[in-house]
Amino acid sequence: MSLMSWGMHPKVKSTVLVFDKTQTLKKIIDEHDELIPYGNGRSYGDSALSTNIINVKPKDYFIAFNEKTGLLHVQAGVLLSEILESFVSRGWFLKVSPGTKLITIGGAIASDIHGKNHHIEGCFSECVKEFLITIADGRTLTCSKEATPELFKATCGGQGLTGVILEAKIYLKKINSQYIDQTTIRTENLRETFEAFEACKQKPYSVAWIDCLAKGEKLGKCLLMTGDFRSDGKLDYKKKKKRNIPFNFPSFALNNLSVRAFNWLYYRKIKEKISQQRVDIDTFFYPLDAIGHWNRIYGKSGLTQYQFILPKATSYEGLKEILSVISKSGKGSFLAVLKLHGKANDNYLSFPLEGYSLALDFKIERGIFDLLSKLDEIVVKYEGRIYLCKDVRVTKDVFEKGYPQVETFRRFRRENKMDEKFQSLQSKRVGI
Ligand SMILES: Cc1cc2nc3c(=O)[nH]c(=O)nc-3n(C[C@H](O)[C@H](O)[C@H](O)COP(=O)(O)OP(=O)(O)OC[C@H]3O[C@@H](n4cnc5c(N)ncnc54)[C@H](O)[C@@H]3O)c2cc1C
Repeated sequence: MSLMSWGMHPKVKSTVLVFDKTQTLKKIIDEHDELIPYGNGRSYGDSALSTNIINVKPKDYFIAFNEKTGLLHVQAGVLLSEILESFVSRGWFLKVSPGTKLITIGGAIASDIHGKNHHIEGCFSECVKEFLITIADGRTLTCSKEATPELFKATCGGQGLTGVILEAKIYLKKINSQYIDQTTIRTENLRETFEAFEACKQKPYSVAWIDCLAKGEKLGKCLLMTGDFRSDGKLDYKKKKKRNIPFNFPSFALNNLSVRAFNWLYYRKIKEKISQQRVDIDTFFYPLDAIGHWNRIYGKSGLTQYQFILPKATSYEGLKEILSVISKSGKGSFLAVLKLHGKANDNYLSFPLEGYSLALDFKIERGIFDLLSKLDEIVVKYEGRIYLCKDVRVTKDVFEKGYPQVETFRRFRRENKMDEKFQSLQSKRVGI
């Protein structure tokens, strides 16, 4: 069947394989090459695409929960949204959550995802006690940081290239409200944006929306949102109805003018320089999930997300240069999300390092990949890296320069014959 991820590009013909028990999975692995696990397809590019896809989403049972420690045991196809629907009303939330709740636990581990609190809580792997994984020789192993450190470090962030995660035990975090006290700060330029982030770095959650078409003195102006959970005991979390985009928009609908108009309006949504609001979990953490299939706004040729991170020491200069190139190109992005990150962990391919990351959504159109190649050069110059789970086009050379542990990852795969079985379009392109 024809398969794609969230960016809707590329669309590839794949055989979709499903399994009921571990013996069936072992047989699938024995009999096929060019395999890759597939969760809920919320990666943007080609990290979950290959000739043969192992569909893990149907594995969606809750297995156990310990009320005292917050340790939750689930199958790997469980969505974060399903955890929230069962646990927020009982006073528990995810320690680390991305900007969508529509991803599987397997996908969260394989991308070692981060949230708005990376500077405090780190990546998803930090809340993983252990997971069960079937590897290339058909063995199913329990993997933890302490007992099997190499497999742990290669799998968390390893984009499905070490095997199929079947179950995981993760720690949840105690909350006493489903509401967050949000402070929004409006800044006038990049210098103010950085100062605001640094002034708020003790806040548990922070994220900024940047107007990436602003130029000159206004370059880097943003709305910075910070927040923390309230303690009012209101835990009445309910699944909300969402609106759907029913079809792909015509490609002319999204252009420089519509992005400029959106940015103008969005930036003015708060009247004062600082404003306070009480918002619920979905509004604060998952605003995009309110609109089903929002990717269709980009038209049938799809979109790509470009997310890079720069070390703190080079973040300001690097971002200034990148934002200047983007605003000159006129190719705007509605979504330009800036985040502060804390220390890197020691997983071989996890994305975050101490510094700032920027994520930008671009419509796939003529000239866009040339623009992104120009941005790559600046990312490399400032010693940054590109996030694999968003990527669909980065070259081997640019990728390798950003990930100093790539050779260790390759060696581990070779020694365990994982490279002969698990491959995605992306892994072939970047040579991992
Ligand atoms: C709107 C939106 C917002 C996002 N915000 C963030 C964010 O804030 N922070 C962030 O870090 N990411 C973010 N992401 C990216 C997303 O969290 C990751 O791409 C995640 O890996 C997707 O999970 P999935 O279940 O959809 O997996 P898929 O997209 O299906 O697969 C992603 C990768 O995980 C592997 N994989 C999936 N399941 C398994 C398994 N059971 N065993 C082994 N490997 C597996 C696949 O092989 C693939 O390499 C966002 C994505 C979207 C669409």
